[in-house]
Amino acid sequence: MFIRRLASNLRRAIKGTGVERVWQQHLMICLALREDADWDTVRQRVGDCMGVAKFYLSYKVAAELDAVKELLRSELKTHQFDTFRITAHRSNKRFPIKSDAINREMGSFVEELTGAKVRLKGADLEVFIDVVNDGMLVYFDPIQGPGGMPVDSSGTTMALMSGGIDSPVAAWQMMRRGSRVKLVHFHSHPLVDSSSIEKAAELAEILTRYQYDAELFLVPFAGVQQRIIVEVPPPYRVVLYRRFMVRIAEALALQQGIAALVTGESLAQVASQTLENIAIVDAAAQMPILRPLIGSNKNDIVDIARQIGTFPISIIPDQDCCSLFVPRHPVTKGSPRVVDRLESLLPVDELVQDALEKVEIRQFAYSPR
Ligand code: ATP
Ligand code: MG
Repeated sequence: MFIRRLASNLRRAIKGTGVERVWQQHLMICLALREDADWDTVRQRVGDCMGVAKFYLSYKVAAELDAVKELLRSELKTHQFDTFRITAHRSNKRFPIKSDAINREMGSFVEELTGAKVRLKGADLEVFIDVVNDGMLVYFDPIQGPGGMPVDSSGTTMALMSGGIDSPVAAWQMMRRGSRVKLVHFHSHPLVDSSSIEKAAELAEILTRYQYDAELFLVPFAGVQQRIIVEVPPPYRVVLYRRFMVRIAEALALQQGIAALVTGESLAQVASQTLENIAIVDAAAQMPILRPLIGSNKNDIVDIARQIGTFPISIIPDQDCCSLFVPRHPVTKGSPRVVDRLESLLPVDELVQDALEKVEIRQFAYSPR
């Protein structure tokens, strides 16, 4: 099931790049490139596909060792290595030479050609030779993929995505574990400009690369905030904003048949991310709130954000809804009793319903880079 899913995701990933066919062969997935295929793009797309641990550009030659030798003579010129190994595999047993014999013959050939030495463990270069039904596959340079699980193999989650650095990374990490992720963004338009909406849309567009289509729920949050500003003293505002976000996201998730939320919180990164405040936010929802970055350091999160392409968007200054009317020193150890008392002054259900009625949904579909 996982491999079938991976193959079907790869078919979407490589659309328009000149890949002729995608098929499964044992625990491998093969892609046949046309003569005019755009390898750089194929490489990028396969390299972004969740579930791909590593992949190779492989050459196909006729089923004879002389053809392999000719290929290696030209391809190994660009490689620097002192040690190497040959790993032959004969899936076509009608080929008369056994794998061991192929290893030995090709080993001596490469030694003579390059002066490098055979080393079975920890060689600089490993040359794979697969004897298949209609020829030989030869490959050697591994390219790392993201690993993990193919998207759509482990359910759907709903990620709360600000325009910041952390939450897009959290969403990407969930995709890497095989989850399809729907995105929800809270904005204070028209109290502030629409910059956070535009950023969220650009981030959704980038994340679409990893799951091929995406849905972004834009929730107007100004109504909730205006009520909170009137009733709630500054130190508690952020925690209450979060509780409302979680309530609204949970309601949206339930409408979508989704059973878990995702946030980009990391323990102790900011005042609202202390254990006490995380517990208060959790208590506002029934469904699990997953926090894939809880144990990550900021610099590690930034590294991933750069790698996946969200960083340059995330650092564009915006008017984020949560920077509105909050004090420099928010409460770090919120008290559940105080939160309950403050919320008893607010028409909680009405505010949630009102926001839900005004949600705007944007669809994103994968388009070639
Ligand atoms: P980020 O870098 O993701 O903005 P942060 O370090 O700024 O995170 P907070 O501002 O405390 O942290 O937000 C914590 C989490 O709450 C975010 O990671 C995100 O999941 C959610 N969140 C915050 N603001 C919004 C928003 N405007 N829309 C949707 N989710 C939000
Ligand atoms: Mg933020």
